[in-house]
Amino acid sequence: MPTHEAGWAHADGALRGPAWLRPPADHDVLVDRLWSTTAHKVDGELVVGGVSVPDLVADVNTPAYVLDEADFRARARAFRDGFAGYDVYYAGKAFLCTAVARWVAEEGLSLDVCSDGELTVALRAGFDPARIGYHGNNKTEPELRRAVAEGVGRVIVDSFDELDRLERVTVSLGRSQPVMVRVTPGVEAHTHEYIATAHEDQKFGFSITAGDALEAVRRVVAAPGLELLGLHSHIGSQIFDTSGFEVAARRVLALHAQVGTELGVTMPEMDLGGGFGIAYTTEDDPADPAQLATEMTKIVEHECRALGVAEPRLSIEPGRAIVGPAMCTVYTVGTVKRVELDGGAVRTYVSVDGGMSDNIRTALYDADYSCTLASRTSAAPPALSRVVGKHCEAGDIVVQDEFLPADVRPGDLVAVPSTGAYCRSMASNYNHALRPPVVAVRDGVATTLVRRETVDDLLATDLGAHE
Ligand SMILES: *Cc1c(COP(=O)(O)O)cnc(C)c1O
Repeated sequence: MPTHEAGWAHADGALRGPAWLRPPADHDVLVDRLWSTTAHKVDGELVVGGVSVPDLVADVNTPAYVLDEADFRARARAFRDGFAGYDVYYAGKAFLCTAVARWVAEEGLSLDVCSDGELTVALRAGFDPARIGYHGNNKTEPELRRAVAEGVGRVIVDSFDELDRLERVTVSLGRSQPVMVRVTPGVEAHTHEYIATAHEDQKFGFSITAGDALEAVRRVVAAPGLELLGLHSHIGSQIFDTSGFEVAARRVLALHAQVGTELGVTMPEMDLGGGFGIAYTTEDDPADPAQLATEMTKIVEHECRALGVAEPRLSIEPGRAIVGPAMCTVYTVGTVKRVELDGGAVRTYVSVDGGMSDNIRTALYDADYSCTLASRTSAAPPALSRVVGKHCEAGDIVVQDEFLPADVRPGDLVAVPSTGAYCRSMASNYNHALRPPVVAVRDGVATTLVRRETVDDLLATDLGAHE
Protein backbone atom coordinates (compact mmCIF):
# COMPACT_ATOMS: atom_id res chain seq x y z
CA MET A 1 0.00 0.00 0.00
CA PRO A 2 1.33 3.48 -0.80
CA THR A 3 2.39 5.39 2.27
CA HIS A 4 0.87 8.66 1.09
CA GLU A 5 -2.55 7.98 -0.35
CA ALA A 6 -2.97 11.67 -1.01
CA GLY A 7 -0.44 11.17 -3.78
CA TRP A 8 -2.71 9.07 -5.96
CA ALA A 9 -5.98 10.32 -4.54
CA HIS A 10 -5.19 13.78 -5.76
CA ALA A 11 -3.38 12.77 -8.92
CA ASP A 12 -4.56 13.84 -12.34
CA GLY A 13 -6.92 11.21 -13.63
CA ALA A 14 -8.12 10.35 -10.13
CA LEU A 15 -11.70 9.15 -10.23
CA ARG A 16 -14.26 11.82 -9.41
CA GLY A 17 -17.34 9.56 -9.43
CA PRO A 18 -20.75 10.77 -10.56
CA ALA A 19 -21.23 14.52 -10.93
CA TRP A 20 -23.41 14.82 -7.83
CA LEU A 21 -20.90 13.12 -5.55
CA ARG A 22 -18.75 15.49 -3.49
CA PRO A 23 -15.91 14.53 -1.19
CA PRO A 24 -17.02 15.17 2.39
CA ALA A 25 -15.50 18.21 4.06
CA ASP A 26 -15.05 16.12 7.22
CA HIS A 27 -15.32 12.32 7.58
CA ASP A 28 -16.38 12.80 11.20
CA VAL A 29 -19.59 14.61 10.32
CA LEU A 30 -22.66 12.85 8.94
CA VAL A 31 -24.74 14.32 6.13
CA ASP A 32 -27.79 14.65 8.37
CA ARG A 33 -30.55 14.11 5.88
CA LEU A 34 -29.19 10.71 4.81
CA TRP A 35 -29.37 9.37 8.35
CA SER A 36 -32.03 8.61 10.92
CA THR A 37 -32.67 11.54 13.22
CA THR A 38 -30.79 10.27 16.27
CA ALA A 39 -27.66 9.26 14.32
CA HIS A 40 -24.46 11.20 14.92
CA LYS A 41 -20.77 10.60 15.44
CA VAL A 42 -18.78 10.85 18.64
CA ASP A 43 -15.02 10.73 18.13
CA GLY A 44 -15.63 9.03 14.80
CA GLU A 45 -17.89 6.35 16.27
CA LEU A 46 -21.43 6.16 14.94
CA VAL A 47 -24.12 6.49 17.61
CA VAL A 48 -27.78 5.67 16.82
CA GLY A 49 -30.64 5.74 19.30
CA GLY A 50 -28.15 6.61 22.04
CA VAL A 51 -26.27 3.35 21.36
CA SER A 52 -22.65 3.21 20.21
CA VAL A 53 -22.67 1.18 17.00
CA PRO A 54 -19.16 -0.25 17.58
CA ASP A 55 -20.33 -1.41 21.04
CA LEU A 56 -23.51 -2.85 19.59
CA VAL A 57 -21.74 -4.89 16.93
CA ALA A 58 -19.24 -6.10 19.52
CA ASP A 59 -22.33 -7.93 20.88
CA VAL A 60 -24.23 -8.93 17.76
CA ASN A 61 -21.41 -9.00 15.17
CA THR A 62 -21.63 -7.73 11.60
CA PRO A 63 -23.32 -7.35 9.24
CA ALA A 64 -26.24 -5.99 11.22
CA TYR A 65 -29.21 -3.79 10.48
CA VAL A 66 -29.68 -1.07 13.10
CA LEU A 67 -33.23 0.28 13.35
CA ASP A 68 -33.80 3.68 14.98
CA GLU A 69 -37.17 3.16 16.68
CA ALA A 70 -37.81 6.82 17.46
CA ASP A 71 -37.10 7.73 13.84
CA PHE A 72 -39.43 5.03 12.50
CA ARG A 73 -42.24 6.15 14.81
CA ALA A 74 -41.68 9.82 13.97
CA ARG A 75 -41.90 9.12 10.23
CA ALA A 76 -45.05 7.06 10.75
CA ARG A 77 -46.57 9.93 12.75
CA ALA A 78 -45.48 12.47 10.13
CA PHE A 79 -47.49 10.57 7.49
CA ARG A 80 -50.43 10.05 9.87
CA ASP A 81 -50.57 13.74 10.80
CA GLY A 82 -49.44 15.16 7.45
CA PHE A 83 -52.13 13.13 5.71
CA ALA A 84 -54.81 13.86 8.30
CA GLY A 85 -58.19 12.71 7.00
CA TYR A 86 -56.55 9.95 4.94
CA ASP A 87 -56.05 6.34 5.93
CA VAL A 88 -52.31 5.64 5.92
CA TYR A 89 -51.35 2.04 5.22
CA TYR A 90 -47.74 1.14 5.99
CA ALA A 91 -46.53 -1.10 3.14
CA GLY A 92 -45.24 -4.08 5.11
CA LYS A 93 -43.27 -5.49 2.21
CA ALA A 94 -40.65 -2.75 2.75
CA PHE A 95 -39.82 -4.34 6.10
CA LEU A 96 -42.02 -6.22 8.54
CA CYS A 97 -41.54 -8.11 11.76
CA THR A 98 -43.94 -8.44 14.70
CA ALA A 99 -42.39 -5.56 16.66
CA VAL A 100 -42.66 -3.22 13.68
CA ALA A 101 -46.28 -4.28 13.10
CA ARG A 102 -46.96 -3.29 16.72
CA TRP A 103 -45.26 0.08 16.28
CA VAL A 104 -47.40 0.69 13.17
CA ALA A 105 -50.56 -0.10 15.15
CA GLU A 106 -49.45 2.05 18.09
CA GLU A 107 -48.82 5.02 15.79
CA GLY A 108 -52.34 4.71 14.41
CA LEU A 109 -51.51 3.50 10.90
CA SER A 110 -53.09 0.67 8.94
CA LEU A 111 -51.05 -2.06 7.24
CA ASP A 112 -50.64 -3.46 3.74
CA VAL A 113 -49.59 -7.07 3.25
CA CYS A 114 -49.12 -8.96 0.00
CA SER A 115 -48.59 -12.57 1.00
CA ASP A 116 -49.74 -15.15 3.49
CA GLY A 117 -46.38 -14.81 5.26
CA GLU A 118 -46.80 -11.06 5.77
CA LEU A 119 -50.39 -11.59 6.92
CA THR A 120 -49.18 -14.20 9.40
CA VAL A 121 -46.61 -11.81 10.88
CA ALA A 122 -49.24 -9.06 11.20
CA LEU A 123 -51.79 -11.32 12.87
CA ARG A 124 -49.14 -12.80 15.18
CA ALA A 125 -48.40 -9.22 16.24
CA GLY A 126 -52.06 -8.79 17.11
CA PHE A 127 -52.70 -6.34 14.27
CA ASP A 128 -56.41 -5.62 13.81
CA PRO A 129 -57.34 -7.47 10.58
CA ALA A 130 -59.97 -4.83 9.81
CA ARG A 131 -57.07 -2.39 9.28
CA ILE A 132 -55.15 -4.66 6.91
CA GLY A 133 -55.14 -4.30 3.12
CA TYR A 134 -54.25 -7.40 1.09
CA HIS A 135 -52.35 -6.91 -2.19
CA GLY A 136 -50.87 -9.13 -4.85
CA ASN A 137 -51.28 -10.00 -8.52
CA ASN A 138 -51.58 -13.76 -7.97
CA LYS A 139 -53.29 -14.46 -4.68
CA THR A 140 -54.16 -18.13 -4.38
CA GLU A 141 -57.56 -19.39 -3.33
CA PRO A 142 -56.22 -20.61 0.06
CA GLU A 143 -54.64 -17.17 0.62
CA LEU A 144 -57.90 -15.43 -0.23
CA ARG A 145 -59.86 -17.86 1.92
CA ARG A 146 -57.67 -17.10 4.90
CA ALA A 147 -57.77 -13.33 4.32
CA VAL A 148 -61.58 -13.33 4.12
CA ALA A 149 -61.96 -15.69 7.08
CA GLU A 150 -59.65 -13.52 9.21
CA GLY A 151 -61.70 -10.42 8.38
CA VAL A 152 -59.11 -8.48 6.40
CA GLY A 153 -60.45 -4.96 5.87
CA ARG A 154 -59.81 -4.73 2.16
CA VAL A 155 -58.65 -7.02 -0.59
CA ILE A 156 -57.17 -5.14 -3.55
CA VAL A 157 -58.27 -7.23 -6.53
CA ASP A 158 -55.87 -7.41 -9.42
CA SER A 159 -57.28 -9.76 -12.10
CA PHE A 160 -60.44 -11.41 -13.41
CA ASP A 161 -59.10 -14.79 -12.27
CA GLU A 162 -58.77 -13.42 -8.76
CA LEU A 163 -62.36 -12.13 -8.93
CA ASP A 164 -63.49 -15.69 -9.80
CA ARG A 165 -61.61 -17.05 -6.79
CA LEU A 166 -62.76 -14.34 -4.41
CA GLU A 167 -66.40 -14.80 -5.43
CA ARG A 168 -66.11 -18.56 -4.75
CA VAL A 169 -64.44 -17.94 -1.40
CA THR A 170 -66.96 -15.38 -0.14
CA VAL A 171 -69.90 -17.54 -1.22
CA SER A 172 -68.49 -20.66 0.43
CA LEU A 173 -67.67 -18.77 3.64
CA GLY A 174 -70.96 -16.89 3.55
CA ARG A 175 -69.16 -13.60 4.09
CA SER A 176 -69.03 -10.22 2.47
CA GLN A 177 -65.57 -8.87 1.59
CA PRO A 178 -64.78 -5.19 0.99
CA VAL A 179 -62.57 -4.80 -2.08
CA MET A 180 -60.73 -2.17 -4.03
CA VAL A 181 -60.07 -2.54 -7.74
CA ARG A 182 -56.46 -1.94 -8.72
CA VAL A 183 -56.22 -0.02 -11.95
CA THR A 184 -53.28 0.92 -14.17
CA PRO A 185 -53.67 4.57 -15.05
CA GLY A 186 -50.93 4.48 -17.69
CA VAL A 187 -48.52 6.68 -15.82
CA GLU A 188 -44.81 6.06 -15.84
CA ALA A 189 -43.32 7.52 -12.70
CA HIS A 190 -39.93 9.17 -13.03
CA THR A 191 -37.94 6.43 -11.45
CA HIS A 192 -36.08 3.26 -12.33
CA GLU A 193 -37.84 1.16 -14.96
CA TYR A 194 -38.03 -1.98 -12.85
CA ILE A 195 -39.82 -0.29 -10.00
CA ALA A 196 -42.24 1.77 -12.04
CA THR A 197 -45.54 -0.12 -11.93
CA ALA A 198 -48.24 1.87 -13.63
CA HIS A 199 -47.39 1.91 -17.31
CA GLU A 200 -49.68 -0.46 -19.16
CA ASP A 201 -47.12 -3.09 -20.17
CA GLN A 202 -46.89 -4.72 -16.76
CA LYS A 203 -48.45 -7.38 -14.62
CA PHE A 204 -50.34 -5.31 -12.03
CA GLY A 205 -53.90 -4.10 -12.15
CA PHE A 206 -56.70 -3.63 -14.66
CA SER A 207 -56.11 -1.33 -17.62
CA ILE A 208 -58.30 1.76 -17.66
CA THR A 209 -57.81 2.44 -21.36
CA ALA A 210 -58.64 -1.14 -22.43
CA GLY A 211 -61.88 -1.00 -20.44
CA ASP A 212 -60.84 -3.85 -18.12
CA ALA A 213 -61.03 -1.62 -15.05
CA LEU A 214 -64.67 -0.67 -15.66
CA GLU A 215 -65.51 -4.31 -16.38
CA ALA A 216 -63.86 -5.37 -13.09
CA VAL A 217 -65.88 -2.77 -11.19
CA ARG A 218 -69.04 -4.09 -12.87
CA ARG A 219 -68.14 -7.63 -11.75
CA VAL A 220 -67.58 -6.49 -8.16
CA VAL A 221 -70.89 -4.62 -8.08
CA ALA A 222 -72.72 -7.70 -9.38
CA ALA A 223 -71.05 -10.17 -6.99
CA PRO A 224 -73.18 -10.77 -3.90
CA GLY A 225 -70.20 -11.43 -1.63
CA LEU A 226 -68.15 -8.38 -2.65
CA GLU A 227 -68.50 -4.84 -1.37
CA LEU A 228 -66.95 -2.17 -3.59
CA LEU A 229 -64.86 0.37 -1.67
CA GLY A 230 -63.22 2.10 -4.59
CA LEU A 231 -60.35 2.26 -7.03
CA HIS A 232 -56.68 1.78 -6.27
CA SER A 233 -53.59 2.89 -8.15
CA HIS A 234 -49.90 2.71 -7.34
CA ILE A 235 -47.67 4.39 -9.89
CA GLY A 236 -44.23 3.33 -8.77
CA SER A 237 -41.53 3.85 -6.21
CA GLN A 238 -38.93 6.37 -5.14
CA ILE A 239 -40.99 9.25 -6.59
CA PHE A 240 -40.06 12.82 -5.67
CA ASP A 241 -42.78 15.04 -7.05
CA THR A 242 -46.54 14.87 -7.30
CA SER A 243 -46.80 15.33 -11.08
CA GLY A 244 -47.08 11.55 -11.60
CA PHE A 245 -49.78 11.35 -8.91
CA GLU A 246 -51.57 14.23 -10.57
CA VAL A 247 -51.86 12.50 -13.95
CA ALA A 248 -52.83 9.23 -12.26
CA ALA A 249 -55.41 10.86 -9.98
CA ARG A 250 -56.98 12.61 -12.95
CA ARG A 251 -57.39 9.35 -14.88
CA VAL A 252 -58.53 7.32 -11.89
CA LEU A 253 -61.03 9.98 -10.81
CA ALA A 254 -62.42 10.10 -14.35
CA LEU A 255 -63.13 6.37 -14.04
CA HIS A 256 -64.50 6.94 -10.52
CA ALA A 257 -66.96 9.45 -11.98
CA GLN A 258 -67.79 7.16 -14.90
CA VAL A 259 -68.71 4.37 -12.47
CA GLY A 260 -71.11 6.84 -10.85
CA THR A 261 -72.82 7.82 -14.09
CA GLU A 262 -72.82 4.44 -15.87
CA LEU A 263 -73.38 2.05 -12.98
CA GLY A 264 -75.08 4.42 -10.57
CA VAL A 265 -72.59 3.49 -7.87
CA THR A 266 -70.81 6.01 -5.66
CA MET A 267 -67.57 4.53 -4.41
CA PRO A 268 -66.72 5.82 -0.92
CA GLU A 269 -62.94 5.47 -1.11
CA MET A 270 -59.89 5.81 -3.34
CA ASP A 271 -56.28 4.71 -2.78
CA LEU A 272 -53.39 6.63 -4.32
CA GLY A 273 -50.70 4.05 -3.49
CA GLY A 274 -47.21 4.56 -2.12
CA GLY A 275 -43.83 5.25 -3.64
CA PHE A 276 -42.75 8.41 -1.80
CA GLY A 277 -39.02 8.92 -2.32
CA ILE A 278 -36.25 9.13 0.26
CA ALA A 279 -32.68 10.40 0.25
CA TYR A 280 -30.20 7.62 -0.45
CA THR A 281 -27.51 10.08 -1.48
CA THR A 282 -27.07 13.85 -1.48
CA GLU A 283 -28.57 13.78 -4.98
CA ASP A 284 -32.06 13.01 -3.58
CA ASP A 285 -34.27 15.71 -2.13
CA PRO A 286 -37.59 14.31 -0.86
CA ALA A 287 -40.54 16.49 0.11
CA ASP A 288 -41.98 16.17 3.59
CA PRO A 289 -45.30 14.32 4.07
CA ALA A 290 -47.34 17.41 4.97
CA GLN A 291 -46.25 19.14 1.77
CA LEU A 292 -47.06 16.03 -0.31
CA ALA A 293 -50.45 15.82 1.40
CA THR A 294 -51.28 19.43 0.64
CA GLU A 295 -50.43 18.98 -3.03
CA MET A 296 -52.21 15.64 -3.43
CA THR A 297 -55.34 16.84 -1.65
CA LYS A 298 -55.44 19.92 -3.85
CA ILE A 299 -55.21 17.77 -6.98
CA VAL A 300 -58.05 15.50 -5.86
CA GLU A 301 -60.27 18.41 -4.72
CA HIS A 302 -59.74 20.18 -8.03
CA GLU A 303 -60.53 17.10 -10.13
CA CYS A 304 -63.59 16.19 -8.08
CA ARG A 305 -64.96 19.70 -8.43
CA ALA A 306 -64.34 19.61 -12.19
CA LEU A 307 -66.10 16.23 -12.45
CA GLY A 308 -68.90 17.21 -10.11
CA VAL A 309 -68.38 14.21 -7.83
CA ALA A 310 -68.07 14.01 -4.06
CA GLU A 311 -64.51 13.53 -2.79
CA PRO A 312 -63.89 9.91 -1.82
CA ARG A 313 -62.05 9.13 1.41
CA LEU A 314 -58.41 8.81 0.39
CA SER A 315 -55.73 6.40 1.46
CA ILE A 316 -52.01 6.12 0.76
CA GLU A 317 -49.46 3.36 1.25
CA PRO A 318 -45.97 4.55 2.14
CA GLY A 319 -43.41 1.85 2.89
CA ARG A 320 -39.94 3.06 1.98
CA ALA A 321 -40.52 6.61 3.25
CA ILE A 322 -41.26 5.32 6.77
CA VAL A 323 -38.76 2.51 7.30
CA GLY A 324 -36.08 3.32 4.72
CA PRO A 325 -34.27 6.16 6.49
CA ALA A 326 -34.85 4.59 9.93
CA MET A 327 -32.37 1.77 9.37
CA CYS A 328 -28.69 1.50 8.51
CA THR A 329 -26.49 -1.51 7.83
CA VAL A 330 -23.16 -1.95 9.57
CA TYR A 331 -20.40 -4.02 8.01
CA THR A 332 -16.81 -4.88 8.84
CA VAL A 333 -14.19 -4.19 6.20
CA GLY A 334 -12.28 -7.33 5.23
CA THR A 335 -10.06 -6.37 2.32
CA VAL A 336 -9.06 -3.18 0.54
CA LYS A 337 -7.83 -3.25 -3.06
CA ARG A 338 -6.63 -0.37 -5.20
CA VAL A 339 -7.45 -1.18 -8.79
CA GLU A 340 -5.83 0.83 -11.55
CA LEU A 341 -8.22 1.58 -14.38
CA ASP A 342 -7.57 2.55 -17.98
CA GLY A 343 -6.03 6.02 -17.94
CA GLY A 344 -4.29 5.42 -14.65
CA ALA A 345 -7.15 6.33 -12.34
CA VAL A 346 -7.50 4.19 -9.25
CA ARG A 347 -10.65 2.80 -7.73
CA THR A 348 -10.55 1.57 -4.16
CA TYR A 349 -12.52 -1.65 -3.69
CA VAL A 350 -13.56 -2.06 -0.07
CA SER A 351 -14.89 -5.56 0.59
CA VAL A 352 -17.27 -6.00 3.49
CA ASP A 353 -18.72 -9.05 5.23
CA GLY A 354 -22.16 -8.89 3.57
CA GLY A 355 -23.33 -7.75 0.17
CA MET A 356 -26.07 -8.67 -2.26
CA SER A 357 -27.54 -11.17 0.21
CA ASP A 358 -28.44 -8.32 2.62
CA ASN A 359 -28.85 -5.52 0.05
CA ILE A 360 -29.87 -6.62 -3.44
CA ARG A 361 -31.05 -3.16 -4.49
CA THR A 362 -27.75 -2.01 -5.95
CA ALA A 363 -27.50 -5.08 -8.18
CA LEU A 364 -31.24 -5.24 -8.93
CA TYR A 365 -32.08 -1.59 -9.51
CA ASP A 366 -28.69 0.01 -10.01
CA ALA A 367 -29.51 1.85 -6.80
CA ASP A 368 -27.14 4.37 -5.28
CA TYR A 369 -26.21 4.39 -1.60
CA SER A 370 -23.79 6.33 0.53
CA CYS A 371 -21.70 5.19 3.48
CA THR A 372 -19.37 6.36 6.22
CA LEU A 373 -16.58 5.06 8.38
CA ALA A 374 -18.37 4.17 11.63
CA SER A 375 -15.64 3.12 14.06
CA ARG A 376 -12.95 5.80 14.19
CA THR A 377 -11.87 9.23 13.03
CA SER A 378 -9.62 9.69 10.06
CA ALA A 379 -7.69 12.66 8.78
CA ALA A 380 -6.79 10.84 5.53
CA PRO A 381 -7.89 12.47 2.28
CA PRO A 382 -11.07 11.18 0.66
CA ALA A 383 -10.65 8.37 -1.87
CA LEU A 384 -13.36 7.39 -4.29
CA SER A 385 -14.34 3.93 -3.15
CA ARG A 386 -16.67 1.13 -4.16
CA VAL A 387 -18.03 -0.94 -1.32
CA VAL A 388 -18.51 -4.52 -2.45
CA GLY A 389 -19.74 -7.69 -0.79
CA LYS A 390 -18.26 -11.15 -0.36
CA HIS A 391 -20.48 -12.99 -2.83
CA CYS A 392 -19.42 -14.74 -6.01
CA GLU A 393 -20.74 -12.11 -8.43
CA ALA A 394 -18.90 -9.17 -9.96
CA GLY A 395 -22.18 -7.22 -9.60
CA ASP A 396 -22.16 -7.78 -5.83
CA ILE A 397 -21.90 -4.07 -5.06
CA VAL A 398 -23.33 -2.34 -1.98
CA VAL A 399 -22.26 1.26 -2.58
CA GLN A 400 -21.23 2.11 -6.14
CA ASP A 401 -19.42 5.35 -5.38
CA GLU A 402 -18.53 7.05 -2.12
CA PHE A 403 -15.58 8.94 -0.77
CA LEU A 404 -14.13 7.02 2.17
CA PRO A 405 -10.96 8.04 3.96
CA ALA A 406 -7.97 6.81 1.98
CA ASP A 407 -6.69 4.91 5.02
CA VAL A 408 -9.76 2.65 5.24
CA ARG A 409 -8.47 -0.76 6.31
CA PRO A 410 -9.49 -4.26 7.43
CA GLY A 411 -11.32 -4.18 10.75
CA ASP A 412 -12.94 -0.79 10.15
CA LEU A 413 -16.72 -0.57 10.44
CA VAL A 414 -18.58 0.95 7.51
CA ALA A 415 -22.23 1.97 7.88
CA VAL A 416 -24.68 2.42 5.00
CA PRO A 417 -27.71 4.62 5.75
CA SER A 418 -31.27 4.29 4.44
CA THR A 419 -31.28 0.51 4.18
CA GLY A 420 -34.58 0.00 6.01
CA ALA A 421 -36.69 -0.64 2.94
CA TYR A 422 -36.35 -3.66 0.65
CA CYS A 423 -33.01 -4.79 2.10
CA ARG A 424 -33.77 -7.19 4.97
CA SER A 425 -37.12 -7.96 3.34
CA MET A 426 -35.39 -8.95 0.08
CA ALA A 427 -32.42 -10.62 1.79
CA SER A 428 -31.39 -14.05 0.58
CA ASN A 429 -29.18 -16.93 1.64
CA TYR A 430 -27.03 -16.67 -1.50
CA ASN A 431 -23.73 -18.47 -0.92
CA HIS A 432 -25.49 -19.85 2.18
CA ALA A 433 -25.04 -16.51 3.90
CA LEU A 434 -26.76 -16.17 7.26
CA ARG A 435 -29.23 -13.30 7.07
CA PRO A 436 -28.24 -10.50 9.49
CA PRO A 437 -30.16 -9.46 12.60
CA VAL A 438 -32.34 -6.38 12.94
CA VAL A 439 -31.50 -4.57 16.16
CA ALA A 440 -33.73 -1.76 17.36
CA VAL A 441 -32.07 1.07 19.25
CA ARG A 442 -33.85 3.60 21.42
CA ASP A 443 -32.83 5.79 24.36
CA GLY A 444 -29.52 3.99 24.80
CA VAL A 445 -31.03 0.49 24.73
CA ALA A 446 -30.49 -2.08 21.95
CA THR A 447 -33.11 -4.79 21.40
CA THR A 448 -32.74 -7.53 18.82
CA LEU A 449 -36.03 -7.74 16.92
CA VAL A 450 -34.91 -10.39 14.43
CA ARG A 451 -31.88 -12.48 15.36
CA ARG A 452 -29.10 -13.50 13.00
CA GLU A 453 -29.73 -16.78 11.24
CA THR A 454 -27.66 -19.73 12.37
CA VAL A 455 -26.14 -22.65 10.52
CA ASP A 456 -28.93 -24.74 12.03
CA ASP A 457 -31.48 -22.43 10.38
CA LEU A 458 -29.67 -22.98 7.08
CA LEU A 459 -29.67 -26.74 7.43
CA ALA A 460 -33.19 -27.00 8.81
CA THR A 461 -34.69 -27.50 5.35
CA ASP A 462 -31.87 -29.67 3.99
CA LEU A 463 -33.26 -33.15 4.57
CA GLY A 464 -29.96 -34.84 3.71
CA ALA A 465 -28.40 -33.16 6.72
CA HIS A 466 -30.74 -35.02 9.06
CA GLU A 467 -30.01 -38.55 7.87
C1 LIG B 1 -44.66 -1.51 -2.91
C2 LIG B 1 -45.99 -0.90 -2.80
C3 LIG B 1 -46.18 0.18 -1.95
C4 LIG B 1 -45.07 0.82 -1.17
O1 LIG B 1 -44.12 1.42 -1.99
P1 LIG B 1 -42.97 2.32 -1.30
O2 LIG B 1 -42.12 2.72 -2.45
O3 LIG B 1 -42.27 1.44 -0.34
O4 LIG B 1 -43.66 3.44 -0.65
C5 LIG B 1 -47.45 0.70 -1.82
N1 LIG B 1 -48.49 0.17 -2.52
C6 LIG B 1 -48.33 -0.88 -3.36
C7 LIG B 1 -49.50 -1.43 -4.08
C8 LIG B 1 -47.08 -1.45 -3.53
O5 LIG B 1 -46.93 -2.46 -4.37
